[in-house]
Amino acid sequence: MKGSSLRVLVTGGAGFIGSHLCERLLADGHEVLCVDNFYTGRRSNIAHLLSHPRFEIMRHDITFPLYVEVDRIYNLACPASPVHYQFDPVQTTKVSVHGAINMLGLAKRTRARILQASTSEVYGDPTVHPQSEDYWGHVNPIGPRACYDEGKRCAETLFFDYWRQHRLEIKVARIFNTYGPRMHPNDGRVVSNFVVQALKGEPITIYGDGSQTRSFCYIDDMIEGLVRLMDTPPSITGPINLGNPEECTIRELAELVRELTGSRSPIVFRPQPADDPCRRRPDIGRARRELGWEPRVPLREGLLKTIAWFERVLQEQPL
Ligand code: NAD
Ligand code: UDP
Repeated sequence: MKGSSLRVLVTGGAGFIGSHLCERLLADGHEVLCVDNFYTGRRSNIAHLLSHPRFEIMRHDITFPLYVEVDRIYNLACPASPVHYQFDPVQTTKVSVHGAINMLGLAKRTRARILQASTSEVYGDPTVHPQSEDYWGHVNPIGPRACYDEGKRCAETLFFDYWRQHRLEIKVARIFNTYGPRMHPNDGRVVSNFVVQALKGEPITIYGDGSQTRSFCYIDDMIEGLVRLMDTPPSITGPINLGNPEECTIRELAELVRELTGSRSPIVFRPQPADDPCRRRPDIGRARRELGWEPRVPLREGLLKTIAWFERVLQEQPL
């Protein structure tokens, strides 16, 4: 066991990032309470943890108050893929805002330290490149992405107000595009879409002309960053960018996935969604300085691991 054992709540713990985080926290010797309403998360993501003596799962929607006794809270509950968060936009704002209020209220009562999974979407379609934490962003407040972007921005506001007003110990992570095993094969995000399409020999769908960029961080690196941020002294609150600064165009990603899967899928072009950000790359200077953290897994290596996982999933359960 590394360090002392804490009671840690992970909201959204049955999701992609949450399930890896639960696994890591158990390995570090903590008691883990995973709270999830299975909106986009799946039991299969945490099935291997259910028999662990320090793991507990509770089905609960965090837009309603939660009364538990914990030392630390990672607030990850929120659909993250544009397809899912736009499916029920009112619920997306509710989970971001009411969910944050409920979890901050819980932290206030228990004096737990609380970390918010914020997002690079708070920068919107950025006019500054790369994005550093002091950039205030360029968000359309009434567009189809606003339920998520503005919901997450308001959650950040709440975190800093609880910090100023109630002296809570807060940590705000701005997570950039993260990928890896346990992404939902149908969640509509670009890495899962391209890998599944390539493995099934179906057309790889690029939205727009593929010149837009993203910077993809492998899940293991993201978990290390989140845990390090949680473990910082109270003076460190963030916001802090966590992501991989290796930027690529969506077209390059499509070609790389095709090469690594050995697929002969054609690349096809589809209309670009409204307000799709043109460029995105994190400035991770603050994470390097304050956490001693930087990503270690290059895109090619992370994609190979992700492809191997999707290959197994598709063999077991053809979609
Ligand atoms: P995910 O959809 O796999 O996980 C989200 C989890 O939250 C799911 O298990 C879902 O069932 C659960 N959930 C949703 N609404 C809930 C509610 N009302 N009550 C309880 N549980 C609820 O997504 P993810 O990629 O694992 O993202 C996790 C967090 O990280 C999200 O807050 C997301 O905004 C943030 N984030 C992710 C990325 C990324 O690239 N994956 C990037 C930026 C930010
Ligand atoms: N995208 C794409 N084809 C797909 C899915 C997504 O070209 O099948 C593009 C999308 O338009 C965006 C980028 O890939 O420019 C990343 O999309 P994703 O939904 O993964 O996340 P975002 O960063 O936009 O939240």
